[in-house]
Amino acid sequence: MGESTRQYDFDYIVVGSGFGGSVSALRLSEKGYRVAVMEMGRRWTPDNLPKTSWSLNRWFWRPSLALRGFFSMRYFRHVTILHGCAVGGGSITYACTMLRPPDKVWDNGSWKGLADWKAEMPQHYDTASRMLGVVENRILGPADKLLQRVSNDLGIGNTFYRTSVAILQSPEGMPGGTTVPDPYFGGEGPERTTCKGCGGCMMGCRHGAKNTLDLNYLYLAEKRGAKIFAETRVVDVRALGGVADGSAGYEVHTVNSLARFNRNARCFTCRGVVISASSLGTMELLFNLKDKGSLPAVSKQLGRYVRTNSESLIGVRVPRSPDDLSKGVAIGSGVYIDEHTHIEAVRYPDKSDTMGMLATILTGGRPGPGRVALWLKNLMVSLALHPFRTVRILQPLKWARESVILLCMQALDGHIDMKWERHLYWPFRKFLVSRGRRVPTFIPAANEFAQKFASVAGGTAMSMLPEILFDVPGTAHCLGGCVIAGSPDEGVIDHRNRVFGYSNMYVCDGSVVAANLGVNPSLTITALAERAMSYIPLASEAKWDDVAKVR
Ligand SMILES: Cc1cc2nc3c(=O)[nH]c(=O)nc-3n(C[C@H](O)[C@H](O)[C@H](O)COP(=O)(O)OP(=O)(O)OC[C@H]3O[C@@H](n4cnc5c(N)ncnc54)[C@H](O)[C@@H]3O)c2cc1C
Ligand code: SF4
Repeated sequence: MGESTRQYDFDYIVVGSGFGGSVSALRLSEKGYRVAVMEMGRRWTPDNLPKTSWSLNRWFWRPSLALRGFFSMRYFRHVTILHGCAVGGGSITYACTMLRPPDKVWDNGSWKGLADWKAEMPQHYDTASRMLGVVENRILGPADKLLQRVSNDLGIGNTFYRTSVAILQSPEGMPGGTTVPDPYFGGEGPERTTCKGCGGCMMGCRHGAKNTLDLNYLYLAEKRGAKIFAETRVVDVRALGGVADGSAGYEVHTVNSLARFNRNARCFTCRGVVISASSLGTMELLFNLKDKGSLPAVSKQLGRYVRTNSESLIGVRVPRSPDDLSKGVAIGSGVYIDEHTHIEAVRYPDKSDTMGMLATILTGGRPGPGRVALWLKNLMVSLALHPFRTVRILQPLKWARESVILLCMQALDGHIDMKWERHLYWPFRKFLVSRGRRVPTFIPAANEFAQKFASVAGGTAMSMLPEILFDVPGTAHCLGGCVIAGSPDEGVIDHRNRVFGYSNMYVCDGSVVAANLGVNPSLTITALAERAMSYIPLASEAKWDDVAKVR
């Protein structure tokens, strides 16, 4: 019989409700634990999701500016990080592309050799794929067909693939919009509606077709008694009763994440903690707690090996395109332009044109002032030769229906580090800051591909303005910072996601990933969390003595 934990408010508190957090909440509840999930974002339903990205206050997350949406952008010297913030974490805003990385990722990084990953992981990928309802995309929109045409023209048509997506889709060629009883969990899940191919996945699916975490893992966890505290930000985690390693449990302090005053500070006690606040959120929380003495033993490797999947966002705009390029699913297809580099066709739904304000004429050149000068020159030449067309492609209206975003990812290794430091211009508190070698802001082969795409589509190739002006690439796939390793000298957690130096404390989210995946990471984050949770005993057998093993 497990030790009683009745004197604690909960057995486990999970911080964050994204992929890692949702898996943890369900699996721990299934094992008989009393679970609470603290999530700083809001709960979203088809009724309160924004209709377009012009509803900034319901799309963007920046509560201090009264923006209470589910999508956030954070700016660092080396990278701009795009991430989600909601009940369901990044799944509310993500494009639901679910790809397995190649086996070679287990041979790189600090997790290498710590487990027989290639033998163990397939079963967890299978479970993750089943839970998230992953299928091969059956809806190819005009943008996907263009991608296929261009890849055929370039002689790489054999690498064209339909993405695997976490979406409920009708059989190919059948219309979407049909509501059906729970198709995934034998009737235990909610009723669902098939995909309409509206391209709106990144604005939140308003049709109930995208398999967001609130419709699978979290839905089932709540049915098993897990309690989700939305709009609740964790600000402190301390070991209880003066037992420094946390073996006597933890107190978790929270505040209301939306309130500016009267923040409703609360404290909950628990026996174990799972930190699942995403790569960025977990680094920020743990750095703060280490620095202020709440969790001083967290490894000094915190913040090391942060990876960005080596991404570059480029695109093509086709003024007066005969086809509505916003139709399809957000990422419907992809193509490999060489062994290490692949490109996906991405879209926003019709009328969600705000991202168009960041697009400009495609510019190559070396990063820095030279590239800015080249961009200005290109712009002037284009304005002189084609004034109407240039103005037409630079203004944002109709951008979504006339544009294909080309998301280029490379599986080459490279990383930056995050530190917890004071800014020169605001020395009163510490912030996360990025350090290390710069991440490349453009990938020449991808630029060439965009130009070819533009000529086939009759459009103009585009770059992202911040990449040119500030030499800072953007990524929606920030990973690492709290990586799996053999000892606290190399990483923050062991191969079963246990935090070095603490008892019954785990990290389950993108921060644990120890190699560049080269593909969209959510399926891997889910599978790794499934694996970590599979080692936790049933509540009736819990001894509460789980500590990280040093190899
Ligand atoms: C626009 C966009 C499109 C994307 N498309 C894809 C895609 O197609 N495929 C793919 O694989 N990936 C995609 N991603 C990336 C994907 O969303 C992330 O990799 C994934 O969500 C990370 O999962 P996670 O478990 O690490 O944390 P998240 O899903 O980010 O969840 C972490 C949660 O913790 C909460 N949190 C943070 N700090 C605290 C705190 N102190 N207290 C309480 N709560 C806290 C956050 O609000 C958040 O909800 C996309 C991302 C974006 C932004
Ligand atoms: S394409 Fe539209 S209907 Fe289909 S999952 Fe995305 S948002 Fe939902």
